[in-house]
Amino acid sequence: MAVRVAETLAGGGALLVEAGTGVGKTFAYLVPALLSGRRIIISTGTRSLQDQLFGRDLPVVSAAIGRPVSVAMLKGRSNYLCLHRLDLAANEARFASREEASWFTRISLWAQATDSGDISEIEGVPEQARVWPQVTSTADNCLGSRCPLYEECHLVEARRRAMTADVVVVNHHLLLADMVLKEEGFGQLLPGADAVIVDEAHQLPETAVNFFGVSVGSRQLDGLATDTVAEGLKAGIPLSALEPLVDELGKANGQARIALSGRDGRLAWSEGGSAIDEATAKLAEAVTALAEAMRPLADQGPGPESLLRRADSLVSALAILNQPDDSERIRWFESFRRSFALHSTPVDVSRELGDKVRDQAGVWIFTSATLAVGDDFSHSADRLGMPEADTLQLDSPFDFQRQSMLYLPEGLPQPSAPDYTDSLLDSIESVLEASGGRAFLLFTSHRALRLAANRMREAGPPIGDFPLLVQGDEPRDQLLRQFRQLGNAVLLGTSSFWEGVDVRGDALEVVVIDKLPFASPGDPLMSARLDAIRAAGGRPFPEYQLPQAVIALKQGVGRLIRDHEDRGVVVICDPRIVGRSYGRVFLESLPAMPVTRRLDDVLAFFDADPSEATA
Ligand code: SF4
Repeated sequence: MAVRVAETLAGGGALLVEAGTGVGKTFAYLVPALLSGRRIIISTGTRSLQDQLFGRDLPVVSAAIGRPVSVAMLKGRSNYLCLHRLDLAANEARFASREEASWFTRISLWAQATDSGDISEIEGVPEQARVWPQVTSTADNCLGSRCPLYEECHLVEARRRAMTADVVVVNHHLLLADMVLKEEGFGQLLPGADAVIVDEAHQLPETAVNFFGVSVGSRQLDGLATDTVAEGLKAGIPLSALEPLVDELGKANGQARIALSGRDGRLAWSEGGSAIDEATAKLAEAVTALAEAMRPLADQGPGPESLLRRADSLVSALAILNQPDDSERIRWFESFRRSFALHSTPVDVSRELGDKVRDQAGVWIFTSATLAVGDDFSHSADRLGMPEADTLQLDSPFDFQRQSMLYLPEGLPQPSAPDYTDSLLDSIESVLEASGGRAFLLFTSHRALRLAANRMREAGPPIGDFPLLVQGDEPRDQLLRQFRQLGNAVLLGTSSFWEGVDVRGDALEVVVIDKLPFASPGDPLMSARLDAIRAAGGRPFPEYQLPQAVIALKQGVGRLIRDHEDRGVVVICDPRIVGRSYGRVFLESLPAMPVTRRLDDVLAFFDADPSEATA
């Protein structure tokens, strides 16, 4: 991998590398990247991988090659204190509770001492505290170069450092924001880079959906209303000039919230009925009125000017949301307990993504543990909009034949059966008993997760004796910490545990997959994509749904063996993996390991002395 990355860095072009677990892909791109002496951006899918690269891997490689390299890490803007908003919040001094007020005092004191402005330096203020949006910025409310505190701004400083560093570590959100210039008021990272290395590249197309579309959310509208009052006051604009319009916006937002929130999930526009069209039109009216009232006031300072810019961009977004779907874009909405968001998204982001990549002069390396289906990269290459990219596939160096086993239990009903989750739990009881817990149970839906959690909470020994950790009960990192410490726990998770989770050693010896992870065809974006493939004369199942699910399954199975010493059993409960012809595509994409349908083999696996175990 290092050789191919070095060749690409020297010769140009784009390379897709699938590197199985344990290949050491991070070092395999860092070594040639650092030796090349070029300016490189490395983008990761998650903040924890960003931290790991910056704090651990880059210093090791840089020391090993004996060449000092200037490295910077740039986080998303919500990770930095915004001095301007801190000021606004101090003037307004309105907090939801005494506790929030005390957190604000703590942040204010820290603000006087911090050099970086990185809010992870503060302890004791919870991540979900409502004070954070009051002291951090969004691309919407940042005043950019018109900000009176621009020269002292922590984010500006972090960006400056990033622009002059040899290696910059970012995440996919920042990379995409830079690609589509959504971060107005700041310079761009990409034009200065010779190469971009995208790690966890399988996540990039889905993240791109957020950047190539248009969205308006109730929180964003609330923010505009609150900031209009705060910025207006600061600029000396009489409240009477804006308050009635802010109230109108609040009313339209409130009515839309009543009509659209509380349904939980991503929904087709049509499911909003006539209410969604009416709500969008009313919101457009209210924001337009506010924008028109702001227009003559915009020269009264950077605050009013930025408010006008925000209001104008919301007017444009709402105008797009007011237009019916066409073959290129679809509208859909998200409904949460107390909020909603309206979206208009390109049905297929790959062409736009590929164009943006090709617009940059430099080299692009995309890597991940899961990019291919069998040895075919076409699905990932197409989704990245890079069908012409070179490819390289490297198998995991782990001895899956000796270290692992794939168990496909017999007798389970079809996944659509009402008693499916109950039957699944029955079928894995003996496995969990034999492994002494130490298991991840990965579900494809929250509903199944909740059902399983309820049943396991009521279970008697031996299953009931294992500590049970359930996604949603506590933050993910905390659950993982407990899982590692407990050593015999059973963890129930959905999508966020299928990837990016690394538990080495004997705390994890079983990974149970409830169903083949086909994305729900009921999801509005998925169903629009499938329609588009059909309309173009394609076959959605083999061309899109199947490869997508294979890559997701590879990620889930990849949680089990993380080291040369790890041992364990993967249990895929879904009977379709043997009962349907496409099951073969899944099986052939997994690492080659012994496959059994007999529980006795699994029990024997756990009985065997690891040092003597053979295939
Ligand atoms: S430039 Fe933007 S982020 Fe920086 S202090 Fe001003 S408003 Fe905040």
